[in-house]
Amino acid sequence: TRTPLMAGNWKMNLDWKQGLALVEELGDQLKGVSTDTVEVAVLPPFVDLRTVQMVVEADKLPITYGSQDVSAHESGAYTGEVSGSMLKALGATYTTVGHSERRQHHAETEEVTNAKVKASFAAGLVPILCVGEPLEERQAGKHVEYTLAQLTGGIEGLDAEQAKQIVIAYEPVWAIGTGEVATPDDAQEVCSAIRDALRGLYGNEVADAARVLYGGSVKSSNVVELMGKEDVDGALVGGASLKAEEFAKIAGFQ
Ligand code: 13P
Repeated sequence: TRTPLMAGNWKMNLDWKQGLALVEELGDQLKGVSTDTVEVAVLPPFVDLRTVQMVVEADKLPITYGSQDVSAHESGAYTGEVSGSMLKALGATYTTVGHSERRQHHAETEEVTNAKVKASFAAGLVPILCVGEPLEERQAGKHVEYTLAQLTGGIEGLDAEQAKQIVIAYEPVWAIGTGEVATPDDAQEVCSAIRDALRGLYGNEVADAARVLYGGSVKSSNVVELMGKEDVDGALVGGASLKAEEFAKIAGFQ
């Protein structure tokens, strides 16, 4: 009953003209894909979002979109920040929160991540909360523990209705941009632990509704196996989402 979500995180790639070309091409490529049974989303840089909105609306494309980050604050004197309500006004559905690159390069703490998750919901957006362990934690066998601590910190204080809607993306840091994809069993191990944690906190209804994605070196050549796992409800795709044909293939994994 969970609709798979294939989300393309463009990261800091593609200016608005290049973003325009990619969304138009993706729209064409998706004509061959049954989008009734899969949701396709793009997460472009802020400066591309207005363009994406216009193309998606004008061409009625089966694509949802969102941001790569969001301010924890509502409005006001926060130079350089973009608020949830500004994103909502652009027709965004999602905000990415707590991506490992934000945690690493922008010192985002658990508290900040939690505040951004709450700010997203307050603005009527659905956060895609990213969690996942660095290599040392995996080597020490602490990957589940580490990831669940990020999960519980990130969702603290949410009500059941919010927990049901949230998207959790399990992205082991060692698999991001390395070409070293997690095995389907490794992805399943942590994705099911995430769902079990949601079940423990909120009960069956929430655990069965919330989508848990895998991210880290996902390509059309490995997506089918990953999606074959019970608790993997989709993918958060970086590099492979920058090419329309490849990303449409990922979206058409069935
Ligand atoms: P890659 O698909 O390039 O490994 O990136 C994964 C990622 O970080 C998506 O958010």
